Amino acid sequence: MSRRHQVGNISLLVALCALLLALTYRGVFTPAKSGSNAAAVLPVSVASSPNSSITESPSAVEVAFTEADFTRHVEQLKKRLPSKEFSIVIQRPFVVIGDESAETVKQHAEDTVKWAVDKLKQDFFAKDPKEILDIWLFKDAASYERNTRLLFGEKPGTPYGYYSRAHKALIMNIETGGGTLVHEIVHPFMEANFPACPPWFNEGLGSLYEQTGEVNGHIHGYTNWRLPGLQQAIKAGTVPSFKRLTALDAIGFYNDDKGTNYSQSRYLCYYLQEKGLLIRFYKEFYLHQKTDPTGYRTLRRVLGEADMERFKRKWQTYVLGLSQQFELRPIALQ
Ligand SMILES: [Zn+2]
Repeated sequence: MSRRHQVGNISLLVALCALLLALTYRGVFTPAKSGSNAAAVLPVSVASSPNSSITESPSAVEVAFTEADFTRHVEQLKKRLPSKEFSIVIQRPFVVIGDESAETVKQHAEDTVKWAVDKLKQDFFAKDPKEILDIWLFKDAASYERNTRLLFGEKPGTPYGYYSRAHKALIMNIETGGGTLVHEIVHPFMEANFPACPPWFNEGLGSLYEQTGEVNGHIHGYTNWRLPGLQQAIKAGTVPSFKRLTALDAIGFYNDDKGTNYSQSRYLCYYLQEKGLLIRFYKEFYLHQKTDPTGYRTLRRVLGEADMERFKRKWQTYVLGLSQQFELRPIALQ
């Protein structure tokens, strides 16, 4: 191939990628809500240099769906809607479907989904999920139970909502609030960006943001309903070591949970956040995943703690000193 052709091809590729990016992000630039940080609403993949997206690995382009892909997806969805009450909002990389008023569904899509996606991408995730995922926002417990059975043939294991990889969907009872929705949004992003991430960090980060807000333009987790149970377990001396927590596989984490796996992971992430170490920890964990798949050694290094038993005592004292800032919610496992 001659040099001229190469240059021509590169120009064509750049033009195509630019077009793809333009199409991909068309329509997502809704004005910032009053009081929010206007400078921070751009999706990070656009706010950063578009050239970096073009020269990155092809996978960055592969996952960018076109308008036509979304239109086709929505057409298919329309055939499955359980009733006329449902409306659909494309909120990339998701499609949001809900049976509250169309205005309310749109509001959830912009204020919660778009906000969370933008903020999570800003600090953690470069890639979108590899498939178009649906976010079903059922208006109350009755709709959630009925329609989950109708659409997916299953009974929800939680009253709040969950991410189903099999159904390529986040299935939510939105009446219980947007916190679980933000928690669940973390999971498909983690899957796309750090597929080998162990459960403790996947759930720790997800649950950190189930009580969330914005501090200095960044997503921020606050203390929540998972705190009192963890404080009780600390007082009872039943919280396992961090070595043990971080080594848990899916069965150990989810099935054999004695009740503190989520909260211990969450408040470890909370501690890292409060010490300004959370983003650094994530990046280093990702980089060293081959040699440190549990994240334990990275944790020790980022914390600067040689003795993790000593750190655990320090962390426990810290957690006992925290108070619940928000959300009184009945005890639930996830
Ligand atoms: Zn989760």
